[in-house]
Amino acid sequence: MLDPIQIRKDFPLFNRLINDKPIVYLDSTASTPKPQQVIDAQDNYYRNFSVNIFRGVYKLSEEATTAYEDARIKVGQFIGAIDSNEIVFVRNATEGINLVASSWGGINVGVRDEIVSSVMEHHANIVPWQQLAINKKAHIRYADITEDGLLDIDHLKKLITTKTKLVALTYVSNVLGTINPVKEIVTTVKELNPQTLVLIDAAQAVPHMSVDVNDLGCDFLVFSGHKMCGPTGIGVLWGRKALLDAMPPYQTGGEMIREVTLEKTTFNQVPYRFEAGTPHIAGAIGLSAAADYLQNLSMDEVAAHEKDIVSYALDRLAKISEITLYGPFRVQIKGGVIAFSMRGTHPHDVAQVLDNDNICVRSGHHCAMPLHKKLGVSSTCRASFYIYTTKEDVDALVEGVEKAKKILRI
Ligand code: PMP
Repeated sequence: MLDPIQIRKDFPLFNRLINDKPIVYLDSTASTPKPQQVIDAQDNYYRNFSVNIFRGVYKLSEEATTAYEDARIKVGQFIGAIDSNEIVFVRNATEGINLVASSWGGINVGVRDEIVSSVMEHHANIVPWQQLAINKKAHIRYADITEDGLLDIDHLKKLITTKTKLVALTYVSNVLGTINPVKEIVTTVKELNPQTLVLIDAAQAVPHMSVDVNDLGCDFLVFSGHKMCGPTGIGVLWGRKALLDAMPPYQTGGEMIREVTLEKTTFNQVPYRFEAGTPHIAGAIGLSAAADYLQNLSMDEVAAHEKDIVSYALDRLAKISEITLYGPFRVQIKGGVIAFSMRGTHPHDVAQVLDNDNICVRSGHHCAMPLHKKLGVSSTCRASFYIYTTKEDVDALVEGVEKAKKILRI
């Protein structure tokens, strides 16, 4: 079992006191603090070889290039990619989805074609597809959710037609915590229409469980570094090599070219074709250190720890009167995230009261407005857990919620 107390020692942020009180960090779904190992890896680049990659024949540049490409290999291995050239470094999951929508969608989606997503998606996995559909006069359909916050797979199946070009789904909901049976869904989608591609938004999966892109059978998968102990500004698009090879550039400029004349340009091979300009070298190095850090803990242990915490938290929160919990209760299909609301109060007020004791939760729509509409609320509070979360953190949350009840006079 993971020892969160021991793990905390790696994270300088947990040494901080605010108003002389420790921090109870319950917003890991939004972003995670960084361990010293990741800070050191970035620091080492900035101190010792912070030069540009690819362009130099001098040793320092070669060192930086090797570190950047080693990061690609490491991150590829972390998600089971066969070929590290299937790893495209992007800014975040959002940019990964936009890249596919713009580049792949630009040449593969046409008038009256269909894209299928779901109502439980983060806006990052809705808006780029909506825009593509508008631009191409295509249609976007949304699979519904069931009463207990699961993806309605029967509904999803009905949406797959001969015109379905792509299914874009989240692996784990950033609000409900629902872990979708992605492998089974991919199989089902491909049975219904073998031409349909599947993109998985794994922003809440890769940091929390072992993910193997080939085992899942999907075609594209995206995630962000900052939610897995890595730096902000770096994320990953993984795509099947043959698909990436057939896709035009997303942005153009330096590094993504093979040859440029004043009249025309030929483009570099994948993944460089999609990494125009100087990339986030320090970010890739930091992300690689984050992958190392998590791998040393073991992703199975990470997932087991979160299950333990979420099960404890569900148990304790469910006992508080006036609280509504959203999403499934079965921990086998629930990630480390719990959205809740308190009758007669606004989630921002609850979060504000919690913040008085340095309990960091998120309140709002969590970039999932259609999901909240479906749930019949405009916003919720959300507590989320990770490798450093202790049962004492959950106890503090429960105490804080009880306090909020009194202060907000329910
Ligand atoms: N998808 C999901 C499920 C998320 O939770 C998030 C972040 N909250 C994103 C996509 C977008 O991530 P980013 O802002 O890092 O691009």
